[in-house]
Amino acid sequence: MINFKELANEYKTPLYIYDFDYMTSQYNKLKEAFKGRKSLLAYAVKSNSNLSVVKHFADLGSGADCVSIGEVRRAFLAGIPSYKIIFSGVGKSDDEIQEAILKDILYINVESEAELKRVALIAKELDKVCRISIRVNPNIDPKTHPYISTGLHDNKFGVDLNSAKRMYIFANNSEHLDPVGIHFHIGSQLTKLEPIREAAEIVADLVRSLSTINIELKFFDVGGGLGVEYDKEVTIEPYDYAQAILGTLTSLDLTVICEPGRFLTANAGYFLTKVLYEKQNAEKKFVVVDGAMNDLLRPALYNAYHKIEAITKSTSEERLVDIVGPVCESGDFFAKNYSLPELEHNDLLVIHSAGAYGFGMGSNYNTRARSAEVAVEKGASRLIRKRETFEDLIALELEFLQS
Ligand SMILES: *Cc1c(COP(=O)(O)O)cnc(C)c1O
Repeated sequence: MINFKELANEYKTPLYIYDFDYMTSQYNKLKEAFKGRKSLLAYAVKSNSNLSVVKHFADLGSGADCVSIGEVRRAFLAGIPSYKIIFSGVGKSDDEIQEAILKDILYINVESEAELKRVALIAKELDKVCRISIRVNPNIDPKTHPYISTGLHDNKFGVDLNSAKRMYIFANNSEHLDPVGIHFHIGSQLTKLEPIREAAEIVADLVRSLSTINIELKFFDVGGGLGVEYDKEVTIEPYDYAQAILGTLTSLDLTVICEPGRFLTANAGYFLTKVLYEKQNAEKKFVVVDGAMNDLLRPALYNAYHKIEAITKSTSEERLVDIVGPVCESGDFFAKNYSLPELEHNDLLVIHSAGAYGFGMGSNYNTRARSAEVAVEKGASRLIRKRETFEDLIALELEFLQS
């Protein structure tokens, strides 16, 4: 059990807290599910990019799925070896491609024909051979939130099957490209197995058809997207997930790569915030807290649900309240019509499932300093990111202030 009161006293609020032991157990569960097959879990760094978090997964043997060169640099700093690093993303700049090639990472996930040509050109200029994988869009509806659905033809991600085939032929004929993998990622917070299995089947068929023209791939990259329980969702068991994927790969000798983010970090994280006041308007009761949408954007961005727990002496009956932050936006809320007891100044609220897409989506909007981050591991806590100060926020502007 995490002692939130003690952590609030020691590190102040608002505060992000990550249970590293939970991350370990999630990692092991998923890794175990692929037992007996060549597999690599490449942690999706964007879900929580704190260096100590990435290092924690590096120590467990994880690779990294990165969506910017900044994330690639984080992966290196955290000790993930180059041969376990993947660079994905729908738009990569020339500088990013160049650096990825020079760092000799496992492969670049290419998302368009134009990008494939850029990568070939840059590899040629550097006199290198770049390993690539192509992100295929299998046109499968993952049945998740439209903002986090990525595998339909009207999404910006990946290429259709016919273009993919053309691109593999182009890559295979290029002296500077080495097509080693195939990739798909149909969405996030997936709770249904069938769309994943269907996508895997479609992509595995493409691998077979490439094999008939002597293009032999090594890596079958199924992306991330495994859903987690925020509320009462019924989620996919790692074992069933692995079996569904492996079932599509009969007669194929491929290393399965999986890029979990949320599954490893979401329920390891808590966002701790303090009650400032209660406020009654004509129609509504509000609880105003010291954390805000600049700390945890998911409710504002996706209307996402987070379980919220009050740490209070109050024994009053629960009533429905809106839990809101101090930012000047009506979207600045953590929950609406949420049932909580009466709260006092300095009572704590624990916002659950905040370990993925929490801190990383934060900003300094309203000149609010970002929270500190704390790791809890084997009963001890330690700071893994300092709370920002006002001086940090203005550091890049101050020298230009004219008198
Ligand atoms: C975001 C992303 C992931 C991780 O998604 P989760 O839902 O957090 O597991 C994996 N791969 C790619 C390419 C992504 O864009």
